[in-house]
Amino acid sequence: MTNTPEKHECVIIGSGPAGYTAAIYAARADLKPIMYMGLQPGGQLTTTTEVDNFPGYPQGIDGNGLMEDLKKQAERFGTDVRWGYITRTELSQEVGGWHKLVVDEKQEILARTVIIATGASAKYLGLESEQRLMGYGVSACAVCDGFFYKGQEVVLVGGGDSAAEEATYLAKLCPKVTLLVRREELRASKAMQHRVFNTPNIEVLWNTDTLEVLGEKTVEGVRVRNNKTGEEKVIPAMGFFVAIGHKPNTDIFKGQLDMDKVGYLITKPDSTQTNLPGVFATGDAQDKVYRQAITAAGTGCMGALEAERYLSDIETHEHEMQLAKEA
Ligand code: FAD
Ligand code: NAP
Repeated sequence: MTNTPEKHECVIIGSGPAGYTAAIYAARADLKPIMYMGLQPGGQLTTTTEVDNFPGYPQGIDGNGLMEDLKKQAERFGTDVRWGYITRTELSQEVGGWHKLVVDEKQEILARTVIIATGASAKYLGLESEQRLMGYGVSACAVCDGFFYKGQEVVLVGGGDSAAEEATYLAKLCPKVTLLVRREELRASKAMQHRVFNTPNIEVLWNTDTLEVLGEKTVEGVRVRNNKTGEEKVIPAMGFFVAIGHKPNTDIFKGQLDMDKVGYLITKPDSTQTNLPGVFATGDAQDKVYRQAITAAGTGCMGALEAERYLSDIETHEHEMQLAKEA
């Protein structure tokens, strides 16, 4: 560890849409932000091919291209974008206090404001075929990628509210949606279950496990097995959607920041303010409802504006203290 830690007014953790938008606003407000990109520079969108719903790109844009553009825009205003993963934090409880962040277990840095943009990771089944066809028919986001399968048959796995919601969303685009549920009931709320059962083009296969996603270059079908009878079959499909939950990347804040039981950071209403002064949570790390690039970007903007206001309040307060001391 270095003996004299660097001190910065604003450190952004994470380089997805939330992080880069926070960086653009913070840099333009002259907060001289430092960003740590983490293990997935560019965030979740780098795992997808086409992004069709981010405003400003009438022809759609490749996920990597979008994130490269956001990076360039953040750097244009002077954001110091760095490699590095924050492995530990010691967040101050004092107004105006310095938050300690440890980078790659090697370097300590101090930050007056911290904008958390660490995102969330979709859970996957862990099949080799699922990984191989990721972005080529396999997706963990029906709202993002469903449109590409308009008019095609698709398969969705999961049994919670997300799966129920995504199944009904896909059913508006696709002639047939097969929902694979590993038990004989859905975990989803009764209201969401009603929606599924009342949508004629959703077929639910109960007690069904996914064995393999089929296809050389793109998804062509899914091989499944009934875990009660042992019967196997192949369901032809062009898309395979996984909706078995998400895990927010917030473990490094456990015990310091308020979070729900899944790990989503809790912020004050209409704000990105966490329970600690100078610490702001943005993007998918605090959003279990929308989980979209544009909503992440929106809260990234909010985080930077709130950090700027917080720093300016501290500066005013410190100036007044100084004047009082001199008087
Ligand atoms: P993320 O994009 O998840 O980025 C998190 C960042 O934090 C990463 O850079 C990671 O390296 C970093 N990080 C994490 N922990 C640490 C740490 N300890 N230290 C340093 N850095 C850290 N949304 C759409 O609007 N349209 C789409 O078409 C679309 N398609 C999608 C397709 C797929 C396959 C997936 C998985 C998601 C898709 N989404 C889409 C959802 C969208 O990607 C997310 O909502 C969005 O990326 C969330 O942005 P974020 O900035 O909050 O976090
Ligand atoms: P969730 O409630 O944790 O449900 C995950 C589902 O995936 C469960 O049905 C689970 O099966 C199944 N699953 C997990 N691992 C699996 C595997 N390896 N193979 C097959 N199936 C697997 O997650 P979620 O649906 O994303 O919901 C998360 C939270 O957000 C919940 O609190 C939910 O209510 C909320 N939410 C609400 C709405 C809404 O109200 N409109 C919409 C979306 C999400 P088991 O049931 O067998 O465990």
